[in-house]
Amino acid sequence: LVELRHVDKHFGKLHVLKDINLSVNQGEVLVVVGPSGSGKSTMCRTINRLETIDSGEILINGQRLPQEGKGLAMLRAEVGMVFQQFNLFANKSIIENVMLAPVKVRHMDKKKAYDLAMDLLARVGVESQANKMPSQLSGGQQQRVAIARALAMQPKVMLFDEPTSALDPEMVNEVLEVMTRLAHEGMTMICVTHEMGFARRVANSVVFMADGKILEQGTPDEFFDHPKTDRAKDFLSKIL
Ligand code: ATP
Ligand code: MG
Repeated sequence: LVELRHVDKHFGKLHVLKDINLSVNQGEVLVVVGPSGSGKSTMCRTINRLETIDSGEILINGQRLPQEGKGLAMLRAEVGMVFQQFNLFANKSIIENVMLAPVKVRHMDKKKAYDLAMDLLARVGVESQANKMPSQLSGGQQQRVAIARALAMQPKVMLFDEPTSALDPEMVNEVLEVMTRLAHEGMTMICVTHEMGFARRVANSVVFMADGKILEQGTPDEFFDHPKTDRAKDFLSKIL
């Protein structure tokens, strides 16, 4: 469903992605881990073209990610993204946040978009907050709204970039539970996270990045129990 082939990217002199190859099949959950600055966020951002790439190619649903124009907008709509910072529109209510893209981008009629949004808010457990403003919600609730908002575009794949790392500890689990449920429902997901419990339980495959390279890729058991490289062993010894 998502495939990166020989993807390379520089920020000026910094070689931030070095020959990245990976593929995620329909219904799979790929977890990306690695030290700070290894290029995890940049890689995520290339997948919906928030960042350009220097060479290589990115395929979504077998189609090459176009550089610009209508095709790009359409492919981008297939990729939902949830960031560390929830980025909800502060001056719109919760329900309006979730309805906005289906109405503006998919030209869904308002009644349908409202029903869809309420449905999604119920799925992430915040339907009772629909008419509040983002600032009136806890961080965990806001992040669940951000997930609902991304799902409202009915994406084929969801990207999560450290969705729980800005949250107070007691709110981490409510967001991980929503993500776990989504995975069990068959959503294709790419998740950058430091939540190793989640990675072990939910990932089909774990990718370890360091210095812009993929150093290891395997099942959670392979990676956590039998890391091959010193970099991965060192990383795991610091966080487990
Ligand atoms: P973290 O775990 O801290 O989120 P990361 O693995 O997500 O790290 P990236 O954010 O992808 O790492 O950054 C990789 C490298 O690219 C870092 O050295 C960072 O400083 C650099 N970088 C990221 N974005 C830019 C940019 N827009 N311009 C220049 N350099 C950048
Ligand atoms: Mg990052």
